[in-house]
Amino acid sequence: MSPFGNGTGPAGQGPGTGRGLGRGGGRGRQAGGFGLGPGGNCVCPNCGKKVPHQRGVPCYTLKCEKCGSPMTRER
Ligand SMILES: [Zn+2]
Repeated sequence: MSPFGNGTGPAGQGPGTGRGLGRGGGRGRQAGGFGLGPGGNCVCPNCGKKVPHQRGVPCYTLKCEKCGSPMTRER
């Protein structure tokens, strides 16, 4: 309880001093992989065949060209 009643706060606590550099991390580069395409690869869970993933085309709609299994998304 302050003896001054209401209105006067403690001096020196400005709104914006201090925390200058917070988290600046926006860089999350994933290493590895062929630099193909924005979406990674589709991979055959059966034989391991990989094809570049195409946007708008879910991997499970693709068939492996080797063994005909439905492919899945890699990573
Ligand atoms: Zn396959």
